[in-house]
Amino acid sequence: MEEVAKRKAKAEEKPQKPSIYSLEMHDLENWLVEHGDKKFRAKQIFDWLYVKRVTDFDDMSNLSKGLREQLKDKFALTTLKTVVQQTSGDGTMKFLFELHDGYTIETVLMRHEYGNSVCVTTQVGCRIGCTFCASTLGGLKRNLEAGEIVAQVVKVQKALDEQGERVSSVVIMGIGEPFDNYDEMMRFLKTINSDDGLNIGARHITVSTSGIIPKIYKFADEKMQINFAISLHAPNNDIRSRLMPINRAYKLPDLMEAIKYYTDKTGRRISFEYGLFGGVNDQVEHAEELADLIKDVKCHVNLIPVNYVPERDYVRTPREQIFAFERTLKKRGVNVTIRREQGHDIDAACGQLRAKERKEETR
Ligand code: SAH
Repeated sequence: MEEVAKRKAKAEEKPQKPSIYSLEMHDLENWLVEHGDKKFRAKQIFDWLYVKRVTDFDDMSNLSKGLREQLKDKFALTTLKTVVQQTSGDGTMKFLFELHDGYTIETVLMRHEYGNSVCVTTQVGCRIGCTFCASTLGGLKRNLEAGEIVAQVVKVQKALDEQGERVSSVVIMGIGEPFDNYDEMMRFLKTINSDDGLNIGARHITVSTSGIIPKIYKFADEKMQINFAISLHAPNNDIRSRLMPINRAYKLPDLMEAIKYYTDKTGRRISFEYGLFGGVNDQVEHAEELADLIKDVKCHVNLIPVNYVPERDYVRTPREQIFAFERTLKKRGVNVTIRREQGHDIDAACGQLRAKERKEETR
């Protein structure tokens, strides 16, 4: 109770202006022209935000004082407060950030041979209700504004600046259902993808959805060269409905049709995430059924050994059985990998750090 009151007071004391990170280049250009300034200043501002990465409008020294004041008056230069920062033995870094209204979100930096990948959050909580996931435990609190998603990448890039490294890829696989906050997610994508922004190539960005079908059609029509993943997790409609309540509204056969539309329209292959939940969907017969289900889809399957969530009672599939599942798919010609786990020692999986924090708050 006290916690909620504190949050409300905080939000009321300073009504939030839109984040400047929420503006795409053309939005900023339009705003400048409307406010009697030159269009080209948008590029200068982007340079301050995404190349020099300043945290104060006053540092934008090639802009007039008047323009800086106008910007300050209209926009927030969103900064996220770091509440927890942990580094795992394998280099994975996990951040718990606080938003202006006191809510907390998670962002993860993963180190791969091919570069640094940031996993961003799109919502405070989630309303999809997948039965195995920690992110949905407290329901949905609110959507993130595009700028709050952008700010996560900027913040991690600033941490990497100290090591002379750059964020090379972004995965939208943190807390929240990105397609349940579609417009803000698209704005985020356009901004980080922009040459004048963080310049992260579309092929280095991945978005994942639990399967909000109308948004899959919409996304296909955007024709962006972004990697697209579907949280499939089941070889048939019954098991999927048991694991993911969203499947009752958006049924598997309809989902497969939407996926077909996507792959036809974009010519791109799709990734399926398939979590292995002990005794539920991890038997060889399930692998066979899965191979049948996706036999005509241009795809890749990523097997995810279940991450233990204390509130959920799913158990891990024994290693040998994971390999048997993989072998079965391979024999059927499916392109498959087993997800390498990172950051095990720091609660790096989906919503775990925030779930822990929430529990402590309510204690
Ligand atoms: N809401 C989007 C983005 C989240 S991506 C989506 O559902 O796709 C995070 C991935 O991790 C999803 O595939 C999700 O289903 C999976 N996941 C969540 N909790 C998990 C757990 N306990 N074990 C294994 N995978 C999990």
